[in-house]
Amino acid sequence: MSTDAVTMEKIVSLCKRRGIVFQSSEIYGGIGATYDYGHYGVLLTNNVKAQWWKSLLQERDDVVALDSAIIQHPKTWEASGHVAGFSDPLVDCRTCKRRFREDKLEISECGEQPSKIPGQGKNCDLTEARQFNLMFKTTVGPVEETGSTVFLRPETAQGIFLNFKHYLQFARKKPPFGIAQVGKSFRNEITTENFIFRTREFEQMEMEFFVPPAQADQWYEYWKQTRYDWYIKLGIRPDHLRLRPHDPDELSHYSSGTSDVEYLFPTDWSELEGIANRGNFDLTQHAEHSKQNLEYVDTASGERYLPHVIEPAAGVGRATLAFLCDAYDEDEIDGETRTVLRLHPQLAPVKAAVLPLVKKDGQPEVAREIVTELRERMQVEYDEGGAIGRRYRRQDEIGTPWSITVDHQTLEDRTVTVRDRDSLAQERIAISDLADELERRLRAPWRSPKLDS
Ligand code: ATP
Repeated sequence: MSTDAVTMEKIVSLCKRRGIVFQSSEIYGGIGATYDYGHYGVLLTNNVKAQWWKSLLQERDDVVALDSAIIQHPKTWEASGHVAGFSDPLVDCRTCKRRFREDKLEISECGEQPSKIPGQGKNCDLTEARQFNLMFKTTVGPVEETGSTVFLRPETAQGIFLNFKHYLQFARKKPPFGIAQVGKSFRNEITTENFIFRTREFEQMEMEFFVPPAQADQWYEYWKQTRYDWYIKLGIRPDHLRLRPHDPDELSHYSSGTSDVEYLFPTDWSELEGIANRGNFDLTQHAEHSKQNLEYVDTASGERYLPHVIEPAAGVGRATLAFLCDAYDEDEIDGETRTVLRLHPQLAPVKAAVLPLVKKDGQPEVAREIVTELRERMQVEYDEGGAIGRRYRRQDEIGTPWSITVDHQTLEDRTVTVRDRDSLAQERIAISDLADELERRLRAPWRSPKLDS
């Protein structure tokens, strides 16, 4: 178990205090397991998604992008097996009227006070388990008639299979290649736990990597390692991250192998991402249900086959929560406790804050000039309100790696101080070198200072 200062309560409270994540519809009392991302939350999750896209699109040439619709033809979910099988076993309590997942009873709380594990209170009266489908249903068109029922997608992956043929025909893609997408998915989750870890509406980052069948095992090994390394490169401490292969009884019906990337949250080890060797299950199903041929045909050799698929599927909210937990730290400066997010600079919502020491003597004007120049290259923020120490703390709390202070010397020699969030070192740098220097630091390899503490 983690020995950090971090607890989930501290993360929730920091997120609310600094406008990272809010309970959704709070003024109406909130709605279960639904959250809104505020200003810094949007900047942070945008950075998480941008790093994911960069690792797949910019840094390699065998993955292409897609953005498919949330509402797809209802047959999609028959073919994929979600209509028949995407369900949780639920039990109801006739006494407290609450509903629980049978496989999560031991982490649920019953309605009795003091709360007990459902079934263990003296008045508990549980029903037999029934299967409950997790897909949200809605209707298309103005009348609710037969055939108008559709589902909000519970995963983004199926949109990729539905478009697979386009990539063969128009982009002339040849396996091995991947199609990646980021977007919202919806699941009517029953147990909702740990803040943004499990929500009913969430964003996924998924990729289907299509390979010749004989290469499936080797690409499965490759993507497990590559996805694990992505989190490490972005600063997650290696002793808080692991790859856990699924036991045979955990495997989905289509999968010949699945491993989860797990993070050691303050609560326990939990899944961030699943990497599955899905065989040709999905393409076979969609070929059958749509009566289309989804085979890859090599025009030169005449070889034809249904590609096998390796799927790394991650959640934006879960990754963000892991980055927040891993970054959260407390230390002491001048006898005061400081809260600091030691985020990888690439993930930090704001890269640099520009702070005039005083609100006079021409300092705000120079600070504004610096902001205008830096803003071309990175997310920066101007702050002139309050004592300088207090302004530093505000930036530390949201993980801003560098604070630039404009002081009386700046007016004389056009230099500023650059304060480092982690080492607290202050260096004087010429304004003319500032943007290049910050960019150099942003690109430099990074390791969590928590590893050395
Ligand atoms: P779990 O076992 O935690 O329900 P899962 O195995 O059903 O997850 P997948 O279907 O493999 O999850 O989805 C891939 C990823 O999408 C997960 O690893 C997770 O990061 C994210 N994800 C899935 N469900 C949710 C949810 N309800 N809220 C937030 N993220 C989710």
